[in-house]
Amino acid sequence: MQLIDNFGRSIDYIRISVTDRCNLRCLYCMPDTSGCTAAGKADGKISHDAVLRYEEIVRFVEAAAALGIKKIRLTGGEPLVRRSLHELVKGIKQISGIEELSLTTNGQLLAQLITPLALAGLDRVNISLDSLIPERYAQITKGGDFGKVMAGIRAAESAGLLPVKLNMVPMLGVNDDEIVDFVRFGMHTGAQIRFIELMPTVVNEHLFSKGFIGSEQIRRAIEREFEITPLKLRKYGPARYFKVKCAAEPQSHASGIIGIISAVTCRFCSLCNRLRLTADGRLRPCLYSNIEIGLFDALRNNASAEELQGLILQAVALKPERHHICDGTKTGTSTGAPFIMSGVGG
Ligand code: SAM
Ligand code: SF4
Repeated sequence: MQLIDNFGRSIDYIRISVTDRCNLRCLYCMPDTSGCTAAGKADGKISHDAVLRYEEIVRFVEAAAALGIKKIRLTGGEPLVRRSLHELVKGIKQISGIEELSLTTNGQLLAQLITPLALAGLDRVNISLDSLIPERYAQITKGGDFGKVMAGIRAAESAGLLPVKLNMVPMLGVNDDEIVDFVRFGMHTGAQIRFIELMPTVVNEHLFSKGFIGSEQIRRAIEREFEITPLKLRKYGPARYFKVKCAAEPQSHASGIIGIISAVTCRFCSLCNRLRLTADGRLRPCLYSNIEIGLFDALRNNASAEELQGLILQAVALKPERHHICDGTKTGTSTGAPFIMSGVGG
């Protein structure tokens, strides 16, 4: 079965936020008040009772898989702060039709949790890393431990969750001088580096206005040192992929793959194949809009698979043709104000 929206896009991917809590406070993502501490204690706004239980998420994925969803990504907040995440991984992997289950994490707890996650069937991980300089990493994340994220990367490789993908958000005056170092790091380690354009949110307005770097600028910085060739790795999805080779050593066999994700400057909406489920059970057809269908009550009250599927189909029918980041309108509203997201959250 295939799930096709009103604009002919095949919807086969859902990102599921399992918590809004996080043990870090990255400067572009979270306010630095309340919540996280460098000691790793995480806090969030959604009360414990309002967060979907694992068995509810599994029932949701079962209903979605029967409609044609094939890929699931677990995210947050920080998904690894939720207890026994491997139980959820195991539950989702048993669902017929789910072909790929991946996780986006800041990597702080990955080394200690990788074994149960891999045994439960996790297929791949994306790890967020915005600097290769330990002190700078700690500043950007407000207390993150660089050693722990590196241990997480190595643990994921050893567990065979390959290729490990590293998400890096380049920001002018913060870490833009490391773009080339990241490409080199990927070539040496085999990790796939994904450069993500900084997106505006309510917590990063100042940073966005001063620090935004567009994908063309990112690409030019890379081209100064590397030969890059476009690759067609996927039909759908937000990333454009390139093969990179060292320009100064054309004979060298060293090469790598990088992705550039231009959510802001170059819309990938026509290729968008995804929905998003928040930790408290709201199904969003577009990450960058306020449109949502509430699923919490249905899941908590044991709605049938058919009822859940009806709600999922409603969300697909509401999927907008495109988002409106930075172009003066807000999808689903008519405020006329520049669209600033409440948070990327995954
Ligand atoms: N806590 C996990 C992590 O950091 O990987 C998962 C959730 S986090 C919201 C998912 C991804 O979104 C991370 O790679 C992060 O860098 C990215 N992200 C968060 N806020 C962003 C923003 N304003 N612009 C661009 N990327 C952002
Ligand atoms: Fe936490 Fe991830 Fe946001 Fe950083 S990007 S504050 S690790 S949720």
